[in-house]
Amino acid sequence: MFVGHYAAAIAIAATRPRKKGLLSYLSFCAVLPDLLMMTSSLFHTTLNYHADIGLLYCLIAVLAIGSLFRFERTHLYLGVLSLGLHLPLDYFYMSSDSTNLYAHPWMDFILESLLILTASFFFVKRHDIHSKKLKWFALAISLIILFQAFWNFYIN
Ligand SMILES: [Zn+2]
Repeated sequence: MFVGHYAAAIAIAATRPRKKGLLSYLSFCAVLPDLLMMTSSLFHTTLNYHADIGLLYCLIAVLAIGSLFRFERTHLYLGVLSLGLHLPLDYFYMSSDSTNLYAHPWMDFILESLLILTASFFFVKRHDIHSKKLKWFALAISLIILFQAFWNFYIN
């Protein structure tokens, strides 16, 4: 799972309307293990960022960046929650045989897109976003889903 992780961030941000920058911070926390995994060759490391010391590094980064941007303690906890939810969401993608949902592009696309759209629905309902902001939000969500389609049907 990759873009589905944004759904966790969007859903959690929906519980804290009107907190500026929170959605960006939570999105960062939610995808951090995958981001580090993908860029780990740049750091010349093969560390597993989904467990052990790699996950601890993620936790430290989440708290450090949250503190740097002066988020209050509750929001730091939500960042940790976003990071924590990464693991159960990856659960169905762990095995490498055909029971791995990644092995089925349509299944993967539908699951991840549904997660994103459901979370976005709650986010928009809770945020009372005015039309211009809503346009940007809708554009971002469309790009995320487009990326998922690209991943499922072009790369794989
Ligand atoms: Zn992951």
